[in-house]
Amino acid sequence: MGFFTDTSVCIGCKACEVACKEWNEVPSTGLDLLGQSFDNTGGLGADSWRHVAFVEQRVPVADEVATVDLGMPSVGMPEQPAGDGDTAVRWLMSSDVCKHCTHAACLDVCPTGSLFRTEFGTVVVQEDICNGCGYCVPACPYGVIERRETDGRAFKCTLCYDRLGDGLEPACAKACPTDSIQFGELDELRDRADRRLAAVRGEGATGARLYGRDPGDGVGGAGAFFLLLDEPEVYGLPPDPVVTTRDLPAMWKHAAAAAVSVAAGIALAFTRRRR
Ligand code: SF4
Ligand code: SF4
Repeated sequence: MGFFTDTSVCIGCKACEVACKEWNEVPSTGLDLLGQSFDNTGGLGADSWRHVAFVEQRVPVADEVATVDLGMPSVGMPEQPAGDGDTAVRWLMSSDVCKHCTHAACLDVCPTGSLFRTEFGTVVVQEDICNGCGYCVPACPYGVIERRETDGRAFKCTLCYDRLGDGLEPACAKACPTDSIQFGELDELRDRADRRLAAVRGEGATGARLYGRDPGDGVGGAGAFFLLLDEPEVYGLPPDPVVTTRDLPAMWKHAAAAAVSVAAGIALAFTRRRR
């Protein structure tokens, strides 16, 4: 099970951020005025398990993507900065979340088993087992998981593990008014994403792409993947994520080989001395 987030229909309402905090009792961090458009969360972290990014872009008029009629009450477009005739301003909004990686480095390095793979294929932290060592923090290639300053333990999206157990969809997907966040079986979501990508490109969004959809995407395929309208970097996502623990088996092999050589050398030295 996982998420498909179609950023082309995100309206930046932040219902997902609020629903996540409310359901999971994630502490408030207050209202931060960051000077980054309407983004007042800044990024994912221990107290922000969903983060809605607002990217303001000046693009050539020809590249401006047609708006999608969502059939919702409207008060019109917000005031736009004056263009120079050849360019227009567009807003990209995207609700980011833990990717629930198929090969999750956070889980590989956790020494207590606090991070585990659930029966739904998602990656969850058990807060009562986390010892706050923080190994998972640098292991995550997306900068998702973080230790909470007030108690030192690590927190991130659980894909609402408790709700899934009761047959409910995650709170963010339930609250999203435009179905930008869709929850379901990954194979079905991938088919839906392929069809949506073709439709969006057909409407003129030539820069549209899927991010994290394929098993070759660096982490074996993400359990939370995205339809983006521009390069991943524009949204603050790494273009080529890798499983940070991918070289560990080879490193252990080299270390073991080195240890065996040293032991053999010492044994040989002792044998010669006796003679
Ligand atoms: S995105 Fe980071 S925290 Fe989430 S499963 Fe992957 S490695 Fe772990
Ligand atoms: S609830 Fe849906 S539309 Fe609103 S910010 Fe989140 S993803 Fe975007």
